Amino acid sequence: MSQERRFSFEFFPTKTDAGHEKLLNVARQLAGYNPDFFSCTYGAGGSTRDRTLNTVLQLESEVKVPAAPHLSCVGDSKADLRALLTQYQDAGIKRIVALRGDLPSGMGMASGELRHANDLVEFIRAETGSHFHIEVAAYPEMHPQAHSFEDDIKNFVRKANAGADSAITQYFFNADSYFYFVERVQKLGVNIPIVPGIMPITNYSKLARFSDACGAEIPRWVRKQLEAYGDDVTSIQKFGEEVITRMCEQLLDGGAPGLHFYTLNQAEASLAVWNNLKLPR
Ligand code: FAD
Repeated sequence: MSQERRFSFEFFPTKTDAGHEKLLNVARQLAGYNPDFFSCTYGAGGSTRDRTLNTVLQLESEVKVPAAPHLSCVGDSKADLRALLTQYQDAGIKRIVALRGDLPSGMGMASGELRHANDLVEFIRAETGSHFHIEVAAYPEMHPQAHSFEDDIKNFVRKANAGADSAITQYFFNADSYFYFVERVQKLGVNIPIVPGIMPITNYSKLARFSDACGAEIPRWVRKQLEAYGDDVTSIQKFGEEVITRMCEQLLDGGAPGLHFYTLNQAEASLAVWNNLKLPR
Protein backbone atom coordinates (compact mmCIF):
# COMPACT_ATOMS: atom_id res chain seq x y z
CA MET A 1 0.00 0.00 0.00
CA SER A 2 1.41 3.36 -0.91
CA GLN A 3 -0.73 5.82 1.08
CA GLU A 4 0.77 7.68 4.05
CA ARG A 5 0.29 6.04 7.41
CA ARG A 6 -1.99 7.70 9.93
CA PHE A 7 -2.14 7.32 13.69
CA SER A 8 -5.04 8.19 15.96
CA PHE A 9 -6.29 7.81 19.53
CA GLU A 10 -9.86 7.18 20.67
CA PHE A 11 -11.55 8.47 23.84
CA PHE A 12 -14.97 8.05 25.38
CA PRO A 13 -16.84 11.04 26.84
CA THR A 14 -16.90 10.95 30.63
CA LYS A 15 -19.80 11.54 33.00
CA THR A 16 -17.98 13.62 35.62
CA ASP A 17 -16.00 16.86 35.57
CA ALA A 18 -13.03 15.08 37.13
CA GLY A 19 -13.13 12.38 34.44
CA HIS A 20 -13.33 15.03 31.76
CA GLU A 21 -10.36 16.94 33.16
CA LYS A 22 -8.39 13.67 33.21
CA LEU A 23 -9.36 12.97 29.59
CA LEU A 24 -8.07 16.40 28.55
CA ASN A 25 -4.78 15.81 30.40
CA VAL A 26 -4.33 12.43 28.70
CA ALA A 27 -5.13 14.09 25.36
CA ARG A 28 -2.53 16.82 26.02
CA GLN A 29 0.06 14.12 26.71
CA LEU A 30 -0.85 12.20 23.54
CA ALA A 31 -0.89 15.43 21.50
CA GLY A 32 2.89 15.55 22.03
CA TYR A 33 3.11 12.53 19.73
CA ASN A 34 1.49 14.40 16.83
CA PRO A 35 -1.36 12.01 16.07
CA ASP A 36 -3.37 12.68 12.90
CA PHE A 37 -6.57 12.91 14.92
CA PHE A 38 -8.42 12.01 18.10
CA SER A 39 -11.86 10.46 18.05
CA CYS A 40 -14.59 10.43 20.67
CA THR A 41 -17.32 7.79 20.96
CA TYR A 42 -21.07 8.41 20.96
CA GLY A 43 -23.69 6.64 23.07
CA ALA A 44 -26.17 5.08 20.65
CA GLY A 45 -29.59 6.68 20.98
CA GLY A 46 -27.95 10.02 21.77
CA SER A 47 -27.09 9.34 25.42
CA THR A 48 -23.78 11.23 25.10
CA ARG A 49 -24.90 13.73 22.42
CA ASP A 50 -23.78 16.86 24.31
CA ARG A 51 -20.77 15.26 25.99
CA THR A 52 -19.39 13.92 22.69
CA LEU A 53 -19.95 17.31 21.04
CA ASN A 54 -18.28 19.24 23.89
CA THR A 55 -15.36 16.83 24.14
CA VAL A 56 -14.66 17.03 20.41
CA LEU A 57 -14.88 20.83 20.40
CA GLN A 58 -12.49 21.08 23.36
CA LEU A 59 -10.01 18.61 21.87
CA GLU A 60 -9.87 20.82 18.79
CA SER A 61 -9.84 24.23 20.47
CA GLU A 62 -7.77 23.51 23.60
CA VAL A 63 -5.62 20.50 22.78
CA LYS A 64 -5.26 21.61 19.14
CA VAL A 65 -5.55 18.18 17.55
CA PRO A 66 -8.21 17.53 14.86
CA ALA A 67 -11.02 15.58 16.50
CA ALA A 68 -13.60 13.25 14.98
CA PRO A 69 -16.93 12.60 16.69
CA HIS A 70 -18.43 9.14 16.39
CA LEU A 71 -22.06 9.26 15.33
CA SER A 72 -24.49 6.36 15.37
CA CYS A 73 -27.88 6.17 13.69
CA VAL A 74 -29.78 3.54 15.65
CA GLY A 75 -32.23 5.30 17.94
CA ASP A 76 -31.62 8.82 16.54
CA SER A 77 -34.08 10.53 14.20
CA LYS A 78 -32.95 12.09 10.93
CA ALA A 79 -33.78 15.49 12.43
CA ASP A 80 -31.46 14.81 15.42
CA LEU A 81 -28.69 13.63 13.14
CA ARG A 82 -29.13 16.59 10.79
CA ALA A 83 -28.93 19.05 13.71
CA LEU A 84 -25.76 17.43 15.02
CA LEU A 85 -24.14 17.36 11.58
CA THR A 86 -24.86 21.08 11.20
CA GLN A 87 -23.28 21.81 14.59
CA TYR A 88 -20.16 19.84 13.66
CA GLN A 89 -19.97 21.45 10.25
CA ASP A 90 -20.37 24.95 11.71
CA ALA A 91 -17.63 24.19 14.26
CA GLY A 92 -15.21 23.26 11.47
CA ILE A 93 -15.10 19.53 12.28
CA LYS A 94 -13.94 17.70 9.16
CA ARG A 95 -13.94 14.01 10.07
CA ILE A 96 -16.69 11.80 11.43
CA VAL A 97 -16.91 8.11 12.38
CA ALA A 98 -20.27 6.82 11.09
CA LEU A 99 -21.78 3.80 12.84
CA ARG A 100 -24.99 1.94 13.34
CA GLY A 101 -24.39 1.71 17.09
CA ASP A 102 -25.77 -0.70 19.67
CA LEU A 103 -28.65 0.43 21.83
CA PRO A 104 -28.42 -0.54 25.50
CA SER A 105 -30.46 -3.71 26.15
CA GLY A 106 -34.11 -2.92 26.76
CA MET A 107 -34.19 -0.01 24.32
CA GLY A 108 -35.08 -2.21 21.33
CA MET A 109 -33.26 -2.49 18.01
CA ALA A 110 -35.36 -1.07 15.23
CA SER A 111 -35.87 2.49 16.46
CA GLY A 112 -34.39 5.31 14.43
CA GLU A 113 -35.05 6.04 10.80
CA LEU A 114 -31.72 4.73 9.50
CA ARG A 115 -31.11 1.05 10.15
CA HIS A 116 -27.56 0.38 9.03
CA ALA A 117 -24.31 2.30 8.88
CA ASN A 118 -24.44 2.42 5.07
CA ASP A 119 -27.75 4.35 5.42
CA LEU A 120 -26.00 6.82 7.74
CA VAL A 121 -23.07 7.28 5.35
CA GLU A 122 -25.54 7.94 2.52
CA PHE A 123 -27.43 10.41 4.72
CA ILE A 124 -24.26 12.30 5.71
CA ARG A 125 -23.23 12.57 2.06
CA ALA A 126 -26.73 13.74 1.02
CA GLU A 127 -26.81 16.35 3.79
CA THR A 128 -23.24 17.61 3.73
CA GLY A 129 -21.72 16.59 0.40
CA SER A 130 -17.98 16.10 0.63
CA HIS A 131 -17.48 18.20 3.79
CA PHE A 132 -16.64 15.28 6.07
CA HIS A 133 -14.02 12.59 5.78
CA ILE A 134 -16.19 9.61 6.75
CA GLU A 135 -14.75 6.67 8.67
CA VAL A 136 -16.72 3.43 9.08
CA ALA A 137 -16.22 0.30 11.18
CA ALA A 138 -14.73 -2.94 9.85
CA TYR A 139 -14.76 -6.39 11.46
CA PRO A 140 -11.85 -8.68 10.50
CA GLU A 141 -13.34 -11.39 12.76
CA MET A 142 -16.92 -10.72 11.58
CA HIS A 143 -19.55 -8.57 13.28
CA PRO A 144 -21.26 -10.71 15.97
CA GLN A 145 -24.72 -10.29 14.40
CA ALA A 146 -23.66 -10.98 10.81
CA HIS A 147 -25.25 -14.03 9.16
CA SER A 148 -21.94 -15.02 7.60
CA PHE A 149 -18.47 -13.69 6.85
CA GLU A 150 -19.51 -13.28 3.18
CA ASP A 151 -22.55 -11.22 4.17
CA ASP A 152 -20.54 -9.05 6.50
CA ILE A 153 -17.96 -8.32 3.81
CA LYS A 154 -20.72 -7.39 1.35
CA ASN A 155 -22.18 -5.07 3.98
CA PHE A 156 -18.78 -3.48 4.51
CA VAL A 157 -18.58 -2.90 0.75
CA ARG A 158 -21.99 -1.16 0.90
CA LYS A 159 -20.51 1.38 3.34
CA ALA A 160 -17.56 2.07 1.08
CA ASN A 161 -19.86 2.41 -1.93
CA ALA A 162 -22.13 4.75 0.01
CA GLY A 163 -19.20 7.17 0.34
CA ALA A 164 -16.94 6.14 3.25
CA ASP A 165 -13.37 7.39 2.84
CA SER A 166 -11.66 4.97 5.20
CA ALA A 167 -12.33 2.45 7.95
CA ILE A 168 -11.20 1.55 11.46
CA THR A 169 -11.41 -2.07 12.54
CA GLN A 170 -12.83 -3.62 15.65
CA TYR A 171 -9.86 -4.76 17.73
CA PHE A 172 -8.40 -8.22 17.19
CA PHE A 173 -5.33 -10.14 18.36
CA ASN A 174 -4.55 -12.01 15.17
CA ALA A 175 -2.91 -10.07 12.34
CA ASP A 176 -3.89 -12.74 9.78
CA SER A 177 -7.58 -11.98 10.26
CA TYR A 178 -6.87 -8.37 9.34
CA PHE A 179 -4.83 -9.20 6.23
CA TYR A 180 -7.42 -11.71 5.06
CA PHE A 181 -10.25 -9.19 5.48
CA VAL A 182 -8.35 -6.48 3.57
CA GLU A 183 -7.54 -8.91 0.78
CA ARG A 184 -11.18 -9.99 0.48
CA VAL A 185 -12.59 -6.47 0.25
CA GLN A 186 -9.88 -5.42 -2.20
CA LYS A 187 -10.90 -8.34 -4.43
CA LEU A 188 -14.36 -6.77 -4.48
CA GLY A 189 -12.84 -3.53 -5.76
CA VAL A 190 -12.77 -1.60 -2.48
CA ASN A 191 -9.46 0.12 -1.84
CA ILE A 192 -10.19 2.57 0.97
CA PRO A 193 -7.61 2.51 3.81
CA ILE A 194 -8.60 0.07 6.56
CA VAL A 195 -6.78 1.02 9.74
CA PRO A 196 -6.40 -1.61 12.48
CA GLY A 197 -8.03 -0.68 15.78
CA ILE A 198 -5.61 -1.58 18.57
CA MET A 199 -6.75 -2.47 22.09
CA PRO A 200 -3.87 -2.42 24.58
CA ILE A 201 -4.06 -5.26 27.13
CA THR A 202 -4.11 -3.95 30.70
CA ASN A 203 -6.85 -5.81 32.55
CA TYR A 204 -7.75 -9.42 31.76
CA SER A 205 -11.26 -9.75 33.22
CA LYS A 206 -12.55 -6.56 31.58
CA LEU A 207 -10.94 -7.49 28.28
CA ALA A 208 -12.46 -11.00 28.36
CA ARG A 209 -15.95 -9.61 29.06
CA PHE A 210 -15.73 -6.96 26.38
CA SER A 211 -14.24 -9.32 23.81
CA ASP A 212 -17.10 -11.78 24.31
CA ALA A 213 -19.62 -9.02 23.67
CA CYS A 214 -18.01 -7.56 20.57
CA GLY A 215 -16.87 -10.83 19.02
CA ALA A 216 -13.09 -10.36 19.29
CA GLU A 217 -11.20 -13.59 19.88
CA ILE A 218 -8.46 -13.72 22.50
CA PRO A 219 -6.10 -16.47 21.25
CA ARG A 220 -5.80 -19.42 23.65
CA TRP A 221 -2.09 -18.89 24.33
CA VAL A 222 -2.73 -15.25 25.26
CA ARG A 223 -5.78 -16.08 27.38
CA LYS A 224 -4.01 -18.88 29.26
CA GLN A 225 -1.02 -16.71 29.99
CA LEU A 226 -3.18 -13.80 31.19
CA GLU A 227 -5.26 -16.14 33.37
CA ALA A 228 -2.09 -17.54 34.92
CA TYR A 229 -1.01 -14.06 36.04
CA GLY A 230 -4.13 -13.76 38.23
CA ASP A 231 -3.97 -10.41 40.07
CA ASP A 232 -0.40 -9.68 39.03
CA VAL A 233 -1.20 -6.49 37.13
CA THR A 234 2.43 -5.69 36.35
CA SER A 235 2.97 -9.02 34.59
CA ILE A 236 -0.34 -8.72 32.71
CA GLN A 237 0.64 -5.29 31.42
CA LYS A 238 4.18 -6.35 30.51
CA PHE A 239 2.97 -9.42 28.62
CA GLY A 240 0.13 -7.43 27.03
CA GLU A 241 2.56 -4.79 25.81
CA GLU A 242 4.76 -7.46 24.25
CA VAL A 243 1.84 -9.19 22.48
CA ILE A 244 0.38 -5.95 21.13
CA THR A 245 3.74 -4.52 20.05
CA ARG A 246 4.51 -7.70 18.13
CA MET A 247 1.14 -7.69 16.39
CA CYS A 248 1.48 -3.99 15.47
CA GLU A 249 4.91 -4.69 13.99
CA GLN A 250 3.40 -7.44 11.86
CA LEU A 251 0.55 -5.15 10.79
CA LEU A 252 2.76 -2.22 9.81
CA ASP A 253 5.37 -4.44 8.13
CA GLY A 254 2.53 -6.06 6.17
CA GLY A 255 1.30 -2.71 4.87
CA ALA A 256 -1.41 -1.59 7.32
CA PRO A 257 -2.03 2.12 6.64
CA GLY A 258 -1.63 3.20 10.28
CA LEU A 259 -2.99 2.36 13.72
CA HIS A 260 -5.97 3.59 15.77
CA PHE A 261 -5.53 3.11 19.54
CA TYR A 262 -8.52 2.44 21.80
CA THR A 263 -7.03 4.34 24.74
CA LEU A 264 -9.94 3.91 27.20
CA ASN A 265 -8.88 7.42 28.26
CA GLN A 266 -5.45 6.21 29.46
CA ALA A 267 -2.15 7.16 27.85
CA GLU A 268 0.40 4.70 29.24
CA ALA A 269 -0.45 1.43 27.50
CA SER A 270 -0.86 3.01 24.04
CA LEU A 271 2.31 5.04 24.44
CA ALA A 272 4.31 2.01 25.56
CA VAL A 273 3.40 0.30 22.27
CA TRP A 274 3.99 3.53 20.31
CA ASN A 275 7.48 3.86 21.81
CA ASN A 276 8.32 0.18 21.27
CA LEU A 277 7.39 0.60 17.62
CA LYS A 278 9.58 3.72 17.41
CA LEU A 279 6.77 5.55 15.67
CA PRO A 280 7.56 9.14 14.71
CA ARG A 281 6.66 12.01 17.04
P1 FAD B 1 -23.29 -1.89 10.33
O1 FAD B 1 -22.20 -1.66 9.36
O2 FAD B 1 -24.65 -1.36 10.01
O3 FAD B 1 -23.37 -3.47 10.58
C1 FAD B 1 -24.12 -4.01 11.66
C2 FAD B 1 -24.61 -5.41 11.28
O4 FAD B 1 -25.61 -5.33 10.25
C3 FAD B 1 -23.53 -6.33 10.71
O5 FAD B 1 -23.80 -7.64 11.12
C4 FAD B 1 -23.70 -6.20 9.19
O6 FAD B 1 -23.24 -7.34 8.49
C5 FAD B 1 -25.20 -5.97 9.05
N1 FAD B 1 -25.54 -5.04 7.96
C6 FAD B 1 -24.88 -3.89 7.67
N2 FAD B 1 -25.51 -3.26 6.64
C7 FAD B 1 -26.56 -4.03 6.29
C8 FAD B 1 -27.60 -3.90 5.32
N3 FAD B 1 -27.64 -2.83 4.51
N4 FAD B 1 -28.54 -4.86 5.25
C9 FAD B 1 -28.51 -5.93 6.08
N5 FAD B 1 -27.54 -6.11 7.03
C10 FAD B 1 -26.60 -5.16 7.14
N6 FAD B 1 -20.81 1.90 19.07
C11 FAD B 1 -21.41 2.97 19.65
O7 FAD B 1 -22.55 2.84 20.12
N7 FAD B 1 -20.77 4.17 19.74
C12 FAD B 1 -19.53 4.38 19.23
O8 FAD B 1 -18.98 5.48 19.31
C13 FAD B 1 -18.89 3.28 18.58
N8 FAD B 1 -17.67 3.42 18.02
C14 FAD B 1 -17.11 2.38 17.32
C15 FAD B 1 -15.91 2.56 16.65
C16 FAD B 1 -15.33 1.53 15.93
C17 FAD B 1 -14.03 1.77 15.19
C18 FAD B 1 -15.94 0.25 15.89
C19 FAD B 1 -15.31 -0.89 15.15
C20 FAD B 1 -17.15 0.05 16.56
C21 FAD B 1 -17.75 1.11 17.26
N9 FAD B 1 -18.98 0.97 17.91
C22 FAD B 1 -19.58 2.03 18.53
C23 FAD B 1 -19.66 -0.33 17.92
C24 FAD B 1 -20.66 -0.47 16.75
O9 FAD B 1 -21.67 0.51 16.86
C25 FAD B 1 -21.26 -1.87 16.82
O10 FAD B 1 -20.29 -2.81 16.47
C26 FAD B 1 -22.55 -2.06 16.03
O11 FAD B 1 -23.10 -3.31 16.41
C27 FAD B 1 -22.36 -2.09 14.52
O12 FAD B 1 -22.07 -0.87 14.00
P2 FAD B 1 -21.63 -0.74 12.46
O13 FAD B 1 -21.50 0.68 12.18
O14 FAD B 1 -20.51 -1.62 12.18
O15 FAD B 1 -22.96 -1.33 11.77
